[in-house]
Amino acid sequence: MAIPWIKRVREGGELSVFNKANTWTDAVNAAVEAFNRLSFGVTLVKAQDEKSANIVLVLANGHTDYTYQGTTVTPGADFSPERLHGKTRAFYYDASPKEIFFAATFLPGKVKGTKKQKEVIVVHEFIHAAGMDEHDDRGIMFANMGESGDGLIEYLHDKNSKAMPPIRVGGQTACIMKMLWSSGAACKAS
Ligand SMILES: [Zn+2]
Repeated sequence: MAIPWIKRVREGGELSVFNKANTWTDAVNAAVEAFNRLSFGVTLVKAQDEKSANIVLVLANGHTDYTYQGTTVTPGADFSPERLHGKTRAFYYDASPKEIFFAATFLPGKVKGTKKQKEVIVVHEFIHAAGMDEHDDRGIMFANMGESGDGLIEYLHDKNSKAMPPIRVGGQTACIMKMLWSSGAACKAS
């Protein structure tokens, strides 16, 4: 289920990003630009510092955890630092309504991959960090990606689909992001 950010952030239409995954910097910068070109109604900006950031990107080499305001999260036991993937943990107030106030994204520290492949991984995680915790049946929020040339493609994809980037957004993703960030109507489950 999608979870909205706290009202102050939602109304500001901005999420600030602080990158600590230094080997991913080029890909993270490209992913910020790619995300912003998708015009979801939320813009990613660079955070002044780690403490004030809405989203912090962390490099995960083996066991890694991240603590924010007394809560510690990990990427989970199934996270491999050698696989091309990421893991985002959203921190939310477990009240009604649930609202996100912070997100930590873990990126694998021992993976080989092109800058374009890493860009696709980071855009996918940014969309999770923006509140969409489900996956889509096509496009950037497909659950599993395969390598295709120097980019990535949905593990199961339409015959004419091309590798990303450029990022393709599935219908469910577009609907959920509109609901979260541009007061769109509730989306039908895919
Ligand atoms: Zn995902």
